[in-house]
Amino acid sequence: MSRIWLSSPHIGEKERVYVEDAFKTNWVAPLGPNVTAFEKQLTAYLNVKSCLSLSSGSAAIHLALQLLGVKSDDVVLCQSFTFAASAFPVLYCGARPVFVDSERTTWNIDPQLLREAIIEQQRKNKKVSAIIVVHLYGIPAKMNEVLSIAKEFNIPIIEDAAEALGSTYHQKPCGSMGDVGILSFNGNKIITTSGGGALVSNNEALIERARKISAQAREPVAYYLHNEVGFNYRLSNICAGIGRGQMEVLNERIARRREIFEFYKKEFQDIDGVTFSEEPANTFCNRWLTTILIDERLGKNKNEEIRLHLESKDIESRQLWKPLHDQPVFKDCDAYENGVSADLFQRGLCLPSGSNLTEEDLKTVVYEFKKIFGRPI
Ligand SMILES: *Cc1c(COP(=O)(O)O)cnc(C)c1O
Repeated sequence: MSRIWLSSPHIGEKERVYVEDAFKTNWVAPLGPNVTAFEKQLTAYLNVKSCLSLSSGSAAIHLALQLLGVKSDDVVLCQSFTFAASAFPVLYCGARPVFVDSERTTWNIDPQLLREAIIEQQRKNKKVSAIIVVHLYGIPAKMNEVLSIAKEFNIPIIEDAAEALGSTYHQKPCGSMGDVGILSFNGNKIITTSGGGALVSNNEALIERARKISAQAREPVAYYLHNEVGFNYRLSNICAGIGRGQMEVLNERIARRREIFEFYKKEFQDIDGVTFSEEPANTFCNRWLTTILIDERLGKNKNEEIRLHLESKDIESRQLWKPLHDQPVFKDCDAYENGVSADLFQRGLCLPSGSNLTEEDLKTVVYEFKKIFGRPI
């Protein structure tokens, strides 16, 4: 029996063809037909004006911050309940991340608390130069509220849709609603390029500036002329070939992840104290990972007990993201807390959710899970 992974790459039929094309035509470079085609697919899928493929989602966030003019000592308000990669690029800019806790329904940034954070930071004479909102686990954040606060205070929004490709909010694709959106194609995401990311926006000028800066900020003259600092953040034409094939199967991957979510939900419906996150009204969730919450009545650290049992059977599961305001690396950063993300971290668990899991795999997970609760199988 092979290991059952949380979320492993699921390659289709065409990826290899596009990668081989790159070799055949010698487009083994950070540009080429696969890059162009992949960007076109993303632009169409997200219904945005413009897209730039990049070497990672982290690179995309870093570029977004640069383009929005985040300077050293500025404050960037960031959802606390997320992967550290959402906030690390703020430090690359010499700016300070300030963390904002989540609300209960979507597990994403609490608009009320965001508002308080802006007002207090401005009162302290801090320049709040961007807001990073995350659609964690593919569940859309409360964007209407967040966008209206951003407008009120005239602060740009970076939408971290790294986990939310294919999710929608009031019919709008996640990633397409902020001033800029970022995507990730890391190996564990809903589709992958082995490693990669993208910046998307309806502001074409901003993406064109990003394109230049991501290619060492070279000026359009025959020799190497640089008026500003650049980065080498482009996506390789080889990796874009993988992405091109993956885009063709994205909707199937989403359908399968949603099916897996429903399967677990049905199987565990009789286990008192195990709950699943509802799909918020007017949203469509890609269900990147199936997450559950375990009631405290069932015991403290029950999530860890389950994880260890599954691990002993070579099944990978994982606690939810540890809030960034509780991470040692961010210990000096301000935070606006309400206890929600700390509670989610205490009680939550991500179950194996990859679209390539077999029915057999899923049955094994359910069998081992129910064993812990002394349930009939
Ligand atoms: C994966 C991820 C990122 C970073 O993407 P990389 O491509 O791994 O750099 C950023 N934010 C969130 C929420 C993620 O899950």
